[in-house]
Amino acid sequence: MCIFCRIASGELPASVVYEDEKTIAFLDIQPINPGHVLVIPKAHAESLVDLSPEDAAQMMRVGQIIDRALRASSLRCEGVNLFVADGAAAGQEVGHAHLHVFPRFEEDGFGIRLDSAERATPGRELLNETAIKLKQAVDSL
Ligand code: AMP
Ligand code: ZN
Repeated sequence: MCIFCRIASGELPASVVYEDEKTIAFLDIQPINPGHVLVIPKAHAESLVDLSPEDAAQMMRVGQIIDRALRASSLRCEGVNLFVADGAAAGQEVGHAHLHVFPRFEEDGFGIRLDSAERATPGRELLNETAIKLKQAVDSL
């Protein structure tokens, strides 16, 4: 059984903040900021794409609940990041799909390189070429 399945079954300890029939949410053992929560479906699946649509939707619903709770709590929270690492190349270390939900505040030292000033602007023609590739894949699903 994987480490998160063992947490979901109660075999391994966790600081649980939310639980329902399909999901469980608990504190990350190495938080980016205090209040960093992992939301997992109880059913094992490695990738987001392997989850049932119901489990994927419930994971995000619970993410919204945790986001709301972080903002309402006494923890420092000026914003919230929700993040899924889907695949090793995307930074996934634990092979059981999970949603990170963590509070953010000014100068907390965490950074995701999303600064648009550092990114290329490919232009409409190239954007449309990329969109065609992706749309064909969407249509083939
Ligand atoms: P990821 O890189 O998206 O796969 O993230 C896995 C996360 O799981 C990391 O942030 C770890 O700190 C966290 N983690 C690993 N083991 C445990 C555990 N036993 N309890 C809580 N969080 C854990
Ligand atoms: Zn698992």
